[in-house]
Amino acid sequence: MLGLMMHWPLMISSLIRHADQCHGEAEIVSRTVEGPIHRYTYRDAHARARRLANALIRLGVTPGERVATLAWNGYRHFELYYGVSGIGAVIHTVNPRLFHDQLTHIINHAGDRLVFFDLTFLSLVEKLAPSCPAVTTWIAMTERAHMPDSSLQLLCYEELLAAERDDYAWPEFDEETAAGLCYTSGTTGHPKGVLFSHRSTLLHAMAVCLPDAKGYSAQSVILPIVPMFHVNAWGVPYSAPLVGAKIVFPGAGLDGKSLYELFESERVESSAGVPTVWLGLIQYMKQNKLQFSTLKRTTIGGSACPPAMMRTLRDDFGITVAHGWGMTEMSPVGTIGSPKAKHRDLSAEELMALSLTQGRPLYGVEMKIVDGEGRDLPRDGVATGNVMVKGPWVMRDYFKNDQSSPLSADGWFPTGDVGSIDPDGYLQITDRSKDVIKSGGEWISSIELENVAIGHPAVLEAAVISVFHPKWNERPLLLVVKKPNMNLSRDEMLKFYEGKIAKWSTPDDVVFVDELPHTATGKLSKKVLRESYRNYCLPTG
Ligand code: AMP
Repeated sequence: MLGLMMHWPLMISSLIRHADQCHGEAEIVSRTVEGPIHRYTYRDAHARARRLANALIRLGVTPGERVATLAWNGYRHFELYYGVSGIGAVIHTVNPRLFHDQLTHIINHAGDRLVFFDLTFLSLVEKLAPSCPAVTTWIAMTERAHMPDSSLQLLCYEELLAAERDDYAWPEFDEETAAGLCYTSGTTGHPKGVLFSHRSTLLHAMAVCLPDAKGYSAQSVILPIVPMFHVNAWGVPYSAPLVGAKIVFPGAGLDGKSLYELFESERVESSAGVPTVWLGLIQYMKQNKLQFSTLKRTTIGGSACPPAMMRTLRDDFGITVAHGWGMTEMSPVGTIGSPKAKHRDLSAEELMALSLTQGRPLYGVEMKIVDGEGRDLPRDGVATGNVMVKGPWVMRDYFKNDQSSPLSADGWFPTGDVGSIDPDGYLQITDRSKDVIKSGGEWISSIELENVAIGHPAVLEAAVISVFHPKWNERPLLLVVKKPNMNLSRDEMLKFYEGKIAKWSTPDDVVFVDELPHTATGKLSKKVLRESYRNYCLPTG
């Protein structure tokens, strides 16, 4: 027998409608690319998202069609989150930090026809356009007065909206309909697309608001530093309207000074970002002997939060860090750290040790660890294994995947991370099975760098490993075995990367060695290399 409750599909548009009806006066503040601070309300945002919906339909956007953005965290990007998914199309948030070939690959793979971009990315889109023949319409997210001269025929975002009425009624459709697309760059091959649904987005948004997760409410003032082009800014653009929180968007101003000014002027009390951005902010504040007057807590994730950073934030600035773990394939949040009632009497140091774990799964994420043969391992905080996850906001397959499903035979998603789970559910990530280098919030593929090096005529063999860097946390170090009787200098090797990869992913240093260690199956043993070069000092550090 079925229950007799209403069928009310979980639509993303319901979030902005709710925010308009119940929190219409709550503010959305943005540092714009054009310069000034822009402020308006959820009510204004909702009206403009409806105008945008009408504009998209006039431009011929159909249900299921992917619409791309190349944009910072800002109010127009927020409107696109709602306007695009609200009409049944899919917002494809493109990470502008990817290398040219990756960008053209994902725009073409997604089949984007419309690309909305912030002015910052004008020269980027001009370079991309010749390799993206399916894109017919490039829309500059600005008003007429700031429209740039361009070799491309551009449309003006504000003109599109001005030509429309705001009387659009959001349609209801199947909650499993695709709503967002985000590509993740793995260790091998091209970036892969993760396709979120309305249902997965809504359930994730609700879960991350819970008090033991990010604890958002109508009293919150949230500044998401994590970009809207990186897994939907960890869900903030959906969670904030759900509870009626004020949002403060930092735009392109991610340096310590710009962030600090915005934190203070807008009385921000909650934030979210990767460790690297906090490093810049902490440095700026220490140099200028500054304190936060309203900021109380932040979520840090994307890579492990260094203990020293968590201590500094707690001891010097009075900030509680909620350490979170997840991945694009998980929408992204899987776990967040917060203590339980039984931890009330722990000492400050014991609490710190707890905070340094990656936290506990949110309700909605099931998690286990398995050994190399896929057998379940105990949740004793000691055994380490491959972390496997399940849940309504965990991906079941990549977009247009031409390979086999990534899921295990019994339906779990293998995260590629290795860790332990203790009896209270706290996850400790000990390693990652991938050898990717996490530089700031970005991934650098070691294999891609090795392939370039091996392309040099004087190189016999090459390996790239991550080495600690004080600013970026990790940077690539290249180890090279030269061919017999060949000459090659460090500078010649690094110059060889020019034009072949994104400049920022070039290795920071080169070490010439006589031979490289290998595993029993003839593969490079990165583990041994990482151990050997654990204390290596990079010239850039
Ligand atoms: P992405 O899909 O780009 O968000 O990257 C996901 C990956 O980042 C995970 O599979 C982990 O390897 C890593 N990661 C995310 N959060 C953490 C964390 N708190 N500690 C350690 N690694 C993390």
